[in-house]
Amino acid sequence: MTTAPSGSRLPGFYNLSLKERHALLARDGWLTAEEINALSGEAGLTSAQADHMIENVVGLHALPLGIALNFLVNDREVLVPMAIEEPSVVAGASFMAKLARAGGGFTAKTTPPEMIGQMQLLDVPDFDAARQALLDQKDRLLAEAAQIDPVLQRLGGGPRDIEVRLIDSSPIGSFLVLHLIYDVRDAMGANAVNTATERLAPLVEAISGGRVHLRILSNLADRRLASAKCTIPLTELAFEGYNAEEVRDGIIAAWAFAAVDPYRAATHNKGIMNGVDAVVIATGNDWRAIEAGAHAYAARGGRYTSLSTWGKDSAGNLTGSLEMPLAVGIVGGATKVHPTARAALKLMGVKTAAELAEIIVSVGLAQNLAALRALATEGIQRGHMSLHARQVAIAAGAQGEAIERLAQQLVAEKTVRIDRAEEILREWQER
Ligand code: NAD
Repeated sequence: MTTAPSGSRLPGFYNLSLKERHALLARDGWLTAEEINALSGEAGLTSAQADHMIENVVGLHALPLGIALNFLVNDREVLVPMAIEEPSVVAGASFMAKLARAGGGFTAKTTPPEMIGQMQLLDVPDFDAARQALLDQKDRLLAEAAQIDPVLQRLGGGPRDIEVRLIDSSPIGSFLVLHLIYDVRDAMGANAVNTATERLAPLVEAISGGRVHLRILSNLADRRLASAKCTIPLTELAFEGYNAEEVRDGIIAAWAFAAVDPYRAATHNKGIMNGVDAVVIATGNDWRAIEAGAHAYAARGGRYTSLSTWGKDSAGNLTGSLEMPLAVGIVGGATKVHPTARAALKLMGVKTAAELAEIIVSVGLAQNLAALRALATEGIQRGHMSLHARQVAIAAGAQGEAIERLAQQLVAEKTVRIDRAEEILREWQER
């Protein structure tokens, strides 16, 4: 559905019990009872289903699934499912989406879903002649490739272009690489592209006189980009002892550090991926592919840098943008097989892979802001600690109400350590 009666704000959601949260999602028409069961774990993936997905299955591995609130993406209210074990991520995304909302939310877009299939051509007798022959016969190659996936073709996807590159300095000497540009519509596309490159290989060999070695998609999906931007009104940035200009300039200074230093950029981008991966995983998409694409894209200029940019507009508001490859699908892979992934896609109401990518890149930008805002002011640990303390309390053996009580004491003592947690539990038991 496009808009639920209450939009994506859902005030007080944090304080509800699990059951009450489920009831609210059903009441507002976000999900059916069956879909809620799939999200809650009651009717998610079964071992029997998993047994068909990978090899040597012995069970399932669960992750917490939370919902990020307050997201307004291209003027649409969205509840965002996030599968992640790390505390603070869902809260951080929700809070920053609230700040962004005050400036109109996130504006996101995507380029066409074009993936690159690579073919490595070895033993080519004459590089120039082979390259020219392949380009001269581009129409024939594209026509042949168009036969491979009638479903994609019918949906308006399929081969778009052929590029030929000469790699002239590799450890084994020179070789040619052919890129098949392939529009995969609403699929992630790896299987589709790999199939196409394998099928096209004999014709490429016949035309070039060489031998096709590797035939595989590139995860550097730099033709399939998603980008998001947001404006945070200056007035939204002040909190506790920090004035708005101080917070804004602190965020910009923190970004500048990531823009020029790979050591900082790696952690900066990891923060972005906290948001991106959580949605990618919740929707059954391939997060290794997204990670590989993101980091390769971050190094495209020859030096690894920040995927996002922060600055200020003429009115002094904070502005942020993020651009990255996002090869995600809503068909294929596990997206349609995994019941929780299906419910997650339904919750967001996405109809195309592009819409999904637009939400994911917006969450990445929100998550980036959450980390920068904390780092530029009170530090990351304060917000993190109370949630972390709960995990420490559970690890120390606390149960039921004692978890929250113990967590609060650990935070109050500023000693969130398992040894201290165990000691407190022992003291309580001895009383
Ligand atoms: P897929 O082959 O399961 O689905 C894609 C196919 O679905 C298309 O070829 C098309 O025939 C059909 N289809 C139906 N409706 C469609 C629509 N609206 N839009 C597009 N296609 C539609 O999956 P895939 O997306 O090609 O491949 C994804 C899987 O490949 C993931 O599980 C991924 O983990 C895996 N994989 C990844 C890599 C890598 O990233 N390097 C390598 C190999 C495999």
